[in-house]
Amino acid sequence: MATEQDVILGVDIGGTKCAVCIGNTRGEVLHRLSEPTDGANRSPEAVMNSLADKGKTLIATVGAASVIGVGVSCGGPLDTTTGIIYAPPNLPEWKAVPVRSLLEDALQLPVRVENDANATALAEWKFGAGIGTQNMVFMTMGTGIGGGIIADGRLIHGRNDLAGELGHQTILIDGPLCGCGKRGCLEALASGPSIERSARESDLPGREKRVLHLAGGDLNKITAAHIVQAAIEGDDFANAILQRAGRYMGIGIANIIQMLNPERVILGTIAVHAGDLILEPIRKAVSEFAWKRSAEVCSIVPAALGDRAQDLAAIALWLQ
Ligand SMILES: [Zn+2]
Repeated sequence: MATEQDVILGVDIGGTKCAVCIGNTRGEVLHRLSEPTDGANRSPEAVMNSLADKGKTLIATVGAASVIGVGVSCGGPLDTTTGIIYAPPNLPEWKAVPVRSLLEDALQLPVRVENDANATALAEWKFGAGIGTQNMVFMTMGTGIGGGIIADGRLIHGRNDLAGELGHQTILIDGPLCGCGKRGCLEALASGPSIERSARESDLPGREKRVLHLAGGDLNKITAAHIVQAAIEGDDFANAILQRAGRYMGIGIANIIQMLNPERVILGTIAVHAGDLILEPIRKAVSEFAWKRSAEVCSIVPAALGDRAQDLAAIALWLQ
């Protein structure tokens, strides 16, 4: 069990940048170093060597005796038992990279590896919007829809670390094609790219009023951020797009509520930026599609950690 004086080395491996930090058990990040991943020009081993060097620098700063372990947060698929990463979508060149053994050899500390959605779920549970709960679900709502499940007070992994892939539940048979190859996944209906596509392909009136203007007049340059911005300004077209995405998201969350009976569902990214503009249609669909007794004990709230989430995700791995 970690004590007040203990610190943890957190390593966040992302598709565009990586970071190494030292954090304590209260969720305070004390030191931090980051660098571009540059996966196009650097091998996974070169990236890991560089992160290990940064880790050594930070460990020397705080004194090795206070560091209880290393937490690594990275896109999945990965194996939490062996600590091997299997070519996540944001790092396609990382085929079977033994992240844990590379860092254990370099740093002489125990290393835990977890996929970033699960790690962020732990961070929101320990330090953010999930404090005090025993049953909560965290879902990202950005480029993809990832998830992490805390059930009866522990993170659920499943047989081969694929529990919590909540974005790939089928919502609409024969719906739009998903990045995973299936049709009608939640991710293909409510993620950032699917909201953008929905705005591009919509035959609803009023797109030119604000959304297209924010995109510089180019239909192909519409982003989810433009749609959220226009909706905040009161634009009807943007609001209708968010309402539709929110309804699909709400159906997906209602399914999760039926399965897990959580007390809180925490939503990241678009839900944080759009707030009630998307949370209200989500809550409305949940009240329509989930049982009343399970829906009424479950609050649906935006994530609380913001920019700190990635650092704290890696730290939180040592506080389970
Ligand atoms: Zn899918």
